[in-house]
Amino acid sequence: MAMASPAGGTRPRSARPRAQRALAVPDPRSAMPGVIWHPSPNHGPRRDGLQPELVVLHFTGMADTGAALERLCDPAAEVSAHYLISGSGQVWHLVQESRRAWHAGAGGWQGRGDVNSRSVGIELCNPGDRPFAAPQMHALEALLRSVMARWNIRAKGVIGHSDMAPERKFDPGPRFDWCRLARQQLAIWPDPQAGQAPAPPLVQSLDRIGYPPAPAPDRLRAFRARFRPAAAHSGRDEDAQDRAIAANVAVL
Ligand SMILES: [Zn+2]
Repeated sequence: MAMASPAGGTRPRSARPRAQRALAVPDPRSAMPGVIWHPSPNHGPRRDGLQPELVVLHFTGMADTGAALERLCDPAAEVSAHYLISGSGQVWHLVQESRRAWHAGAGGWQGRGDVNSRSVGIELCNPGDRPFAAPQMHALEALLRSVMARWNIRAKGVIGHSDMAPERKFDPGPRFDWCRLARQQLAIWPDPQAGQAPAPPLVQSLDRIGYPPAPAPDRLRAFRARFRPAAAHSGRDEDAQDRAIAANVAVL
């Protein structure tokens, strides 16, 4: 999430006086063994009858799990996610999946906005400067399987925060192991053979994948963090390998 930043567009100011009361029990459909129900007040109704079709993955940008939990449940912070997973793999369930948690903010994916109304948000405890621990990845994979099954979300519907908001967000970042998720059909990953054929312009492929309009350098950075992490910090201009990988991802 990069939780130090404002969530942006999460709630109309006019709705402030109606304080939400957290329910005493989680959505029974999402109750899983070992998951701690720790309700956050920071949620609202999903708009226009929308249901989750995406999962948005975040890192907290904080070193301390307790501080992240506190912030995600602080009414003054106006941020939340449906789930928080610690480095040791403990899962906290903060917002019922049927509700609209405030994790995504301004942005879009595949031409549609209000990502909060169309997604389930999962925060991973990680300051952003280190790999994601194995127990955390294991817990995430189990959680993704259940969320994706409940809402019939496909592998290509699992995205990073920086994918839907390339101008503003950097999480979960190039250290996140998307390839590991893809091997379990929990995300998508380019074909290693990509790059053989002449590829269309990068802008076309990124549009087709789902990236929203943003300055080209921001879209390139977000794309590389997600699909070409070895080049994430290269600082080089777009090249043929970017175009080839993007063309491959666009048809997955
Ligand atoms: Zn985020």
